[in-house]
Amino acid sequence: MSQNNWESLSMYQNQVSRILKNSFSNHRLAHSYIFEGPIGTKRFETAKLFAATLLCTNLSDSFNPCGVCHNCIRVENESHPNLFVIRRDGEKIKKKQMKDLLIEFSKSSVEVGPRIYIIDEAERLNVESANTLLKTMEEPGAEIYQIIVTDQVNSLLKTIISRAQVIHFKPIDKRLIETDLVNKGINPLYAESIPEYTNNYEEAEKIALNEEMTSLILFVKEMYLSLALQKGSVILMFKEKRELFISDALLTDFVLSMMILFQKDILGYKLRHLDQLVFKDQTEILEKCSKRMSQTWIEQTLDEMLGLKLKLKYNINSQFAFDKMLLTLERGYIDGISSRSNSI
Ligand SMILES: [Zn+2]
Repeated sequence: MSQNNWESLSMYQNQVSRILKNSFSNHRLAHSYIFEGPIGTKRFETAKLFAATLLCTNLSDSFNPCGVCHNCIRVENESHPNLFVIRRDGEKIKKKQMKDLLIEFSKSSVEVGPRIYIIDEAERLNVESANTLLKTMEEPGAEIYQIIVTDQVNSLLKTIISRAQVIHFKPIDKRLIETDLVNKGINPLYAESIPEYTNNYEEAEKIALNEEMTSLILFVKEMYLSLALQKGSVILMFKEKRELFISDALLTDFVLSMMILFQKDILGYKLRHLDQLVFKDQTEILEKCSKRMSQTWIEQTLDEMLGLKLKLKYNINSQFAFDKMLLTLERGYIDGISSRSNSI
């Protein structure tokens, strides 16, 4: 979010924003919070907003940090001596990291004012480090606040959960991510489909800025264009391009996911669910394809695509499986045309 404050947060996490802001205005802050929810739902940004609200020297009447004072800037850079951020070291949050934190707790702070500890990806705590964390929660100092960020609240010790206030973060609305991407200068032709692939806000932005991936969105559109206009074989098109992605599991999954979205759109067009279309800029192509393919065939191809997606997870020979799926796609189209001309 461009300006990190409670109002901008409320667009994405209305309830979270309301609960925390009320706690500030009622002077009823808890000392330990668990920010729980899927990745990419602004949990960590909210933890930093919480810290900035506590440390800002120029807080507004509505409890918004100013964003420009020395403290706000140091919170943003994570360089404020009263702000501690613990991130995993390798796969896990190590016991030593938590021990160091415990030592920090026992010292008096370098600067006056509250101290905030953010533990990111707390599902990465091992048993030992979780027990050390628990010790820090047993006797929280008056001006000490802890925020435990996790996507698996149930992986935490029950004793940790019971000592904290759990704040639930919901997945962010896809259309909101789309609007945000467009506002950030991302081409709307990409912004419309990426949030359907992931509603992890950060990941969506990364994909939108990755030319390799956005070019694959265009490729899928070109394939369907070719299919609609009968310009050539999609199997051949695929062969020409597949070197770009077939050896990379993530890119292969991405191409297939975009095809699934397009295929779903064709079905959506046929069923006149026009308000649910993803590729809103492709209605002409969708119309042509939906007219030429029977509903049964659209659904059958879609099933095959979904089956392929599952197979790719288990490293089944993807070239062969892709070719088979593309053949179904192409055949459905041609059959649709011939059955139409037969009926005329
Ligand atoms: Zn400030």
